[in-house]
Amino acid sequence: MKDFIDELEQNQTLPRGDWITLITNFTPEDAQYLFERARVIQNQHYGNQVFIRGLIEFTNYCKNDCYYCGIRRSNRNAQRYRLTKDSILNCCRKGYKLGFRTFVLQGGEDGHFTDAALVEIVSAIRQEFPDCAITLSVGERSRESYEALYSAGANRYLLRHETYDHAHYARLHPSELSAAHRQQCLWDLKDIGYQVGTGFMVGSPLQTAETLTDDMLFLKKLNPQMVGIGPFIPHHDTPFADQTPGTLSLTLFLLGAIRLMLPKVLLPATTALGTIAENGREHGVLAGANVVMPNLSPANVRENYLLYDNKICTGDEAAESVEHLQQSMQAIGYNIVVSRGDSLNI
Ligand code: SAH
Repeated sequence: MKDFIDELEQNQTLPRGDWITLITNFTPEDAQYLFERARVIQNQHYGNQVFIRGLIEFTNYCKNDCYYCGIRRSNRNAQRYRLTKDSILNCCRKGYKLGFRTFVLQGGEDGHFTDAALVEIVSAIRQEFPDCAITLSVGERSRESYEALYSAGANRYLLRHETYDHAHYARLHPSELSAAHRQQCLWDLKDIGYQVGTGFMVGSPLQTAETLTDDMLFLKKLNPQMVGIGPFIPHHDTPFADQTPGTLSLTLFLLGAIRLMLPKVLLPATTALGTIAENGREHGVLAGANVVMPNLSPANVRENYLLYDNKICTGDEAAESVEHLQQSMQAIGYNIVVSRGDSLNI
């Protein structure tokens, strides 16, 4: 498979059939070879820098019912919470002191946060932290809503496409949600001027090498500034409670492949990756990732934002541990930097 990896590095894409073959047949040796190439490319563009983002999970109310997600509306056992504007601003203040220059506001699709309410929050953060990037990750909204939030000062938007294949998408979501609409949102966000992040879960139920290939080809076409991928992990109160989780090895392999395909993209080593394996995020960085997103949410709500079982929320992924995170990164030859960490993929 090494020739396919060389071809991917050279052409920054592969024909569909070769992607399928590579994803299906790669060996551990192929993976090591891919990671070496991915590190070289990462280093060419970003040196040994790892960017950090402060993740504020500000609401776990959600009107959607995605079959994989622990905060789906049908989960009666979820302890629901939402943060006030003041509480969100306090998270940012704490984060700023810790060296964060990007705040990511993520949540379920919560009707309480109307455009007016979110605009007020974004404006307040923009005013108090003019040197910081504001990233939103609040799902599918209208183009007008995205425009209003952009005007209020949001710079970036994370919206994973989850899976490109329409039939596969329909097996992961109820019928009121569609792959087509989600993808339209991404094109709208890009068109408005957001730095856009998309991505998918690795090993979601019924995923195949073919659907993953379509995901890679979609990433290539959208050419986003960021790509977030992490293993699917079952949550006990969802219809997918008994499904098999995604693997570390496939997640790392795809991280490396994305680094070769989109050399300048920002690639987080996600919390889900840190959850399925000891030092999962270090492995992610060594496979080509260059971003980590520690949790800045208030300690008393962290354990309620449970998208999947055993989600880590203390230790290194807590924003308070940024110094320890720095030590972990230094141990593998990388450095956490105080910076907005804008994407070079423009
Ligand atoms: N409501 C927002 C934020 C979603 S949570 C939105 O619609 O974009 C962020 C991501 O967590 C999701 O996009 C999904 O890919 C991931 N996620 C949800 N449940 C998961 C699970 N069980 N295992 C792994 N990742 C999961």
